[in-house]
Amino acid sequence: MKYPITLIACVFTLNLFAQAPVKITTASNAPSKPKLVVGIVVDQMRYDYIYRYWDKFGSDGFKRLVNEGFFCRNTNFNYVPTYTGPGHTSIYTGTTPAVHGIIANDWFDKKTGKYLYCAEDDAVKGVGTSEVEGMRSPVNNLTTTITDELRISSNMKSKVIGIALKDRAAIMPAGHIANAAYWYDGSTGSFITSTYYMKELPSWVQDFNKKELAKKYLSQPWNTLLPIEQYTESLPDDNKYEYIAKGETKPVFPHNLPQLMAANGGFNMIRSTPFGNSLTKDFAIEVIKNENLGKSAATDFLAVSFSPPDYIGHTYGPSSVEQEDDYLRLDKDLAELLKFLDKQIGKKDVLVFLTADHAAPEVPSYLMDLKVPAGYVNEEKILKDLKNYLLITYGDTLVLSYINQQMYLNHKVIVDKKLELQQVQEKASQFLQNMAGVSEVLTASALNNTSFNEGSRYLMQKGYNANRSGDILVNYLPAWMDFSKTGTSHGSPYSYDTHVPLIFYGWNIKQGSSAEQVYITDIAATLAMMLNIQFPNGCTGKPISFLVK
Ligand code: ZN
Ligand code: ZN
Repeated sequence: MKYPITLIACVFTLNLFAQAPVKITTASNAPSKPKLVVGIVVDQMRYDYIYRYWDKFGSDGFKRLVNEGFFCRNTNFNYVPTYTGPGHTSIYTGTTPAVHGIIANDWFDKKTGKYLYCAEDDAVKGVGTSEVEGMRSPVNNLTTTITDELRISSNMKSKVIGIALKDRAAIMPAGHIANAAYWYDGSTGSFITSTYYMKELPSWVQDFNKKELAKKYLSQPWNTLLPIEQYTESLPDDNKYEYIAKGETKPVFPHNLPQLMAANGGFNMIRSTPFGNSLTKDFAIEVIKNENLGKSAATDFLAVSFSPPDYIGHTYGPSSVEQEDDYLRLDKDLAELLKFLDKQIGKKDVLVFLTADHAAPEVPSYLMDLKVPAGYVNEEKILKDLKNYLLITYGDTLVLSYINQQMYLNHKVIVDKKLELQQVQEKASQFLQNMAGVSEVLTASALNNTSFNEGSRYLMQKGYNANRSGDILVNYLPAWMDFSKTGTSHGSPYSYDTHVPLIFYGWNIKQGSSAEQVYITDIAATLAMMLNIQFPNGCTGKPISFLVK
């Protein structure tokens, strides 16, 4: 039998090496890895808050992250809509709604003709609650997360847990094979989960709930942390751009929480106060302690999201004393969490990153008073006018829904009437283009047939999922939205919504900063390279070059 020449060469080479001293790889020169990764997402955090409140921050919260970590100062979302569900999913999957399918918080389901919530799952039940808020899971996310990949790569030895007041902000980051995700039940003030993860709350979660911390936090008025005259970064406390809570006559401090609670959502009221951050921080510390995170040979992962800044932004806006106070208090909560991590695990063994699920614009009515172009669209009127136009043109209103700035057309009627779908989309688009506040309109046909490389059209394409998105995507002018004239909202492709902070800190992270543009989808790819594991299966982001060599 003749051996192929390459095999003979191989055997010969192996023999040569057999005589050389053998270098045995030991645990000490295996690639190092963190004991724990803590992913922190601040809901509705603009990157400029770091600088805006810098002088008021303590030295051991945000400042510690920036001064000891690496600050990617030009991190951007690369799709629309910039909402919470897609935001958290994109951070952890390393891709955009086009691929992971979480196209919004709620969307019109073309198959059932009903509205679907992003974390809705009728196949599961609540654990710790009988409310519908318990029927939640990550089942609507079509791809794996970095946390899923960590579990798979460690043969399920790594523990992964997600927590937040908002269910979607706990569930999407934790992924499909998480050990647990816990979120807040505003009807009881407790942390709950669903049968997707477990049959019963662990005893330590039950004990935590028994402490009734939400009730305690809400038993005192919300006063400013510092004397109110020191909030010079914000508008006067009493201004017309803020929502007035039921039972108050002005939107001013102190907000008497015990008195206001009953009329303003009961225990849900903690969501729109900084004490919701403190409650999340308290729970995060209990998770780490009771689940022994960071104490085994495998890398564990805790995904924490702080939801209150989003509620406070919607209620009072980015330039309110309320939002400033929220961030000053969040700074203290972060400091406490970092200090706990020092003691419990040690900074060199914990990898922390902090980012946001989207940012937010100034209150449009405030911008209008400053003579900055801004405005309010009326989506109800847009929908009504389009339906009337289509009724006159085609003899049917043809629209099933207008949600997330997407029109869903009635394909069945279009087929029955022997109309051309593309032609109807174009006709409707031309009509919509002329509506007040509309900047551009894209049809699904255009998105399916053209590849956009930059600008808002690129972002619309990255947010467009052919199976789930509508027939026509509408973009509004900068600082235009369908919202009340108090507080603000988000969702646009403009930098006020897309530009967020990103800070890496702790294990193997050198101090520094960069203004180079990176994308939110790069976070999961960077983590995969740091942890030497697979990218999430739909990942379209790239590792950030100055963080991983
Ligand atoms: Zn959000
Ligand atoms: Zn929001």
